[in-house]
Amino acid sequence: MGQLIKVCKALTVAGSDSGGGAGIQADVKTFQEFGVYGMSVLTAVTAQNTTGVQGVYPVPLDGLEQQLTSIGSDLKPDAVKTGMLFSGEYIESVAFFIKKFGWSNLVVDPVMVAKGGASLLGEEALEAMKMYMLPLAKVITPNIPEAEALTGIEITGDEARHEAARILFNMGADYVVIKGGHMEDEFVSDLVYNGNEMCELIDKRVYTKNTHGTGCTFSAAVAAELAYGKTMENAVRNAKKFIQTAIEHGIDVGSGHGPVNHFA
Ligand code: PLP
Repeated sequence: MGQLIKVCKALTVAGSDSGGGAGIQADVKTFQEFGVYGMSVLTAVTAQNTTGVQGVYPVPLDGLEQQLTSIGSDLKPDAVKTGMLFSGEYIESVAFFIKKFGWSNLVVDPVMVAKGGASLLGEEALEAMKMYMLPLAKVITPNIPEAEALTGIEITGDEARHEAARILFNMGADYVVIKGGHMEDEFVSDLVYNGNEMCELIDKRVYTKNTHGTGCTFSAAVAAELAYGKTMENAVRNAKKFIQTAIEHGIDVGSGHGPVNHFA
């Protein structure tokens, strides 16, 4: 039977999490839940489970570039998200191919550190992120520590959070979403800034140890919504609802921090 509706396609450029909770596994599961055709370009393989990251093995640079070329020469993603990009050199390369193929609706999740503390991005990569990736971004979705690392601002309250959003916006993204999960309040407030208005999306905090993959899942959900052509406001709102439910139904597997539930 022929297809009557357009198939929306989303690409993730990120690392693999062997434990299945974060990284490309979280992204592709999320794309699937949103009914979007998912594609993945791997930057690195992590050996990982619910207790932490046991190893990080980058894909050779030419392997990364060949994957991007394979996608770009055949499949046209309606939205792209980046997660763990491993190094400054890899960031520069990914940005080059995004520009070369004219991919739009770019969601940049500036993944730096895994929940257990393992580094997923070299320190030298911060400058490359600012120089090459942020100017291409439709939206950047840092958590509080990532926003602090990118802006040099210590986010202790609302004023500092707003200032960080302005600085990130001036680095080139059309929208900034600073996720509030790392603040210690009873309610989690995500700050959305479009260069004009500051808007807060607030929901109650879920007290659980099973939050692995939260950031990946949220940014993949935003990308899936953008692939459908949704406005950023709707994309972020729906992604927030999705991640709230996924955290509420976190999966108790393994002996450490279980993943959020992509199929809740
Ligand atoms: N990407 C990879 C490959 C990871 O292993 C991790 C965390 O371990 C992340 C991204 C970030 O995970 P989270 O969504 O929990 O911030």
